[in-house]
Amino acid sequence: MASPRTLRDLSLRPVSVLKTVSDRKAAQLELWGVASVLDLLMTFPRKDRYIDRTVKASVSGLDVGTAAAVLAEVQRVRSGGGHNRNRKVPVTVTVRDDTGTMEVAFFNQPWRAKQLREGTEAIFWGKVGDYRGTRQMVNPVVDVVAGVDEPGLGRQRRTLRILPVYPASAKAGLTSWEIGTFVEEALERAGEFLDPLPGEWLASLDLWDRTSAMRAIHGPESLDVIRPARRRLTFDELFRLQLALVLRRRAFEHNARALRHDVSPREITGAVSGTLVSRFLGGLPFELTTAQRRALAVIVADLAGPFPMHRLLQGDVGSGKTVVALAALLGAVQSGHQGALMVPTEVLAEQHAVAVRQLLGALDVRVELLTSRVKGKARAQMLTDLASGEVSIVVGTHALLTREVEFASLGMVVIDEQHRFGVEQRATLRAKGEEGDPDLLVMTATPIPRTAAMVIFGDLDLTVLDELPPGRVMVTTKWLPRPADEHIAWDRVRREVAAGHRAFVVCPLVGDSLRVEARSATEECDRLRAGELAGLRVGLLHGQMAPAAREEAMAQFRRGEIEVLVATTVIEVGVDVPEATVMVVESADRFGIAQLHQLRGRVGRGALASWCFLLGEGGEDGVAGERLAAVEKTTDGFVLAEEDLRLRGEGTLLGARQQGHTDLRLASLSDPDDRFLLTEARRVAEAIVTGDPQLEAHPALADEIKLFLSEDEGEYLFKS
Ligand code: ADP
Ligand code: MG
Repeated sequence: MASPRTLRDLSLRPVSVLKTVSDRKAAQLELWGVASVLDLLMTFPRKDRYIDRTVKASVSGLDVGTAAAVLAEVQRVRSGGGHNRNRKVPVTVTVRDDTGTMEVAFFNQPWRAKQLREGTEAIFWGKVGDYRGTRQMVNPVVDVVAGVDEPGLGRQRRTLRILPVYPASAKAGLTSWEIGTFVEEALERAGEFLDPLPGEWLASLDLWDRTSAMRAIHGPESLDVIRPARRRLTFDELFRLQLALVLRRRAFEHNARALRHDVSPREITGAVSGTLVSRFLGGLPFELTTAQRRALAVIVADLAGPFPMHRLLQGDVGSGKTVVALAALLGAVQSGHQGALMVPTEVLAEQHAVAVRQLLGALDVRVELLTSRVKGKARAQMLTDLASGEVSIVVGTHALLTREVEFASLGMVVIDEQHRFGVEQRATLRAKGEEGDPDLLVMTATPIPRTAAMVIFGDLDLTVLDELPPGRVMVTTKWLPRPADEHIAWDRVRREVAAGHRAFVVCPLVGDSLRVEARSATEECDRLRAGELAGLRVGLLHGQMAPAAREEAMAQFRRGEIEVLVATTVIEVGVDVPEATVMVVESADRFGIAQLHQLRGRVGRGALASWCFLLGEGGEDGVAGERLAAVEKTTDGFVLAEEDLRLRGEGTLLGARQQGHTDLRLASLSDPDDRFLLTEARRVAEAIVTGDPQLEAHPALADEIKLFLSEDEGEYLFKS
């Protein structure tokens, strides 16, 4: 007996080895992204789109009006008068079985007369009609059981079975039917598949073996087997992904040189005083929320622990991530190291530097802001002070990643709004730790459902701040789709400004270019000054302004010298002005749910009642409207995230970050069953890697993971 097939084995065989795949079809398949037999077998039928042709009947038992298959013998053939080539005249065939006879008519298929000669046995599948008192099928699907080969058709039986429907591609010139034929041959020739999952796991997870699953998903014998087959293969997909992520994590820990920071959870509870962390927490003008306390306890344990922290802190807008991050940075500082806080934009870096200094109050901790704006002598001095350790905490943008930035001892790195940073950038910053790998805390306000986070950030530990500080007001959100209603928004802006508060106007997203966006913001600002907001002090903020001008605009806004700030999405993250009580988002239909939620987070940051107005229509297909309605309805970031996932599908969610090996073909994170499978996959992956970090006892698994990973990553994961 041949040894069972591995996926790698199948990946090494081009589709052209199949007899049913001609050179031309092989080329078309390749265009479509299917080069190997594995690619072919991983082209799965569409979910819930199988065609059931298993209903079998005897001729006398056929019900008029329903489709069924009958096995019958050809009794007589008439092809519309001898050698008639007229296609309009049908070929009529009388067939019979033990129970009776039936007429079968074929239009436009003159060759049927030759195929179905007297005595041929065939299966006829079609809808039964009544023609002048006789049962009749018109143009049924035919499978010859005994007799001549069917000319012009593939080898695949099309009746008395359940036919899968493949995502056929008209562009590549491939039909679902052809793909089915190729897959069938591939499956036949593949034989048994090697199952990399230990039998006991299969049993405990109630999963089918791979061979049965592959066969059943492509060629189910009954509709009942499709679900378990899909379930097994969905598990495979999720499991490979989770295993890769868990391995990545272990490799990271294995290769790490951890700094063990001198900080303890007792400093959070107040049981210990006098340390920098406890003084900082004790000096805050507010109590930490329970969620903040819990998150900080976990982080502090990481800091003191034997592995470098590698953690994602996820918390809705306004949940108070900065305080948590700062306490963690101070944990590193009190241990004699330095901390860095990296953010995606200069505006945000400036904001954070202000916020951090404010929070630190009278504590003697030197904080510096390093952006491209810091130049010449000042920059040189700052770099020297960083390298000598005089600066304890540095806040900055990507500029922190440049070569010239050196630390005396970088012990802790916080990256805010991680979605803008790549994995490599994280690694670069980490590599700046001379004495050991700095602990890493990644913060994001982008609410991602936990399961999706497991896919996207699966190599990070996850901590969630699921609580807002008390006293926060709800931001009243109104979607105003009709231009005639927009005055409601502007009236509110005027009333708030009159009450001494401030307003944001967010300009539409235009094009991809920052310059175009800046120009349109400038125009909009001029228009509003002359129109709806005449008489108010209106300022402008966009990403193309010089950093000094930008900082000045923000400062004036904070002081109230600017009452209305017309801005592009540069204000999306982090801007913290408690007096800002109203926001108007223009052409809100162009923004995604997450972005609108972020933007809205800029108001309602104090105890003052706040408003957010969304201008713009619902769009042709109404999807934009659904988004706007969702944002109007709730301010709960997690509810919005689920809604976003539902509206967009996880494809887009993962799209930007995911590479080929993590593509989800079968799994759907909006499906609760699949989400459950995902957590199971994670659990199993953890268990396997814990017992066998290099997968030495699981060579088949190791091989399969490597097959789905890039070569570099494979090497990284498996070198010890
Ligand atoms: P985000 O999670 O959006 O980054 P921030 O850290 O910017 O939130 O916090 C938002 C605001 O709430 C800040 O002004 C911060 O000082 C304040 N804040 C943080 N934690 C608390 C708390 N426990 N109680 C009251 N206010 C808090
Ligand atoms: Mg923040």
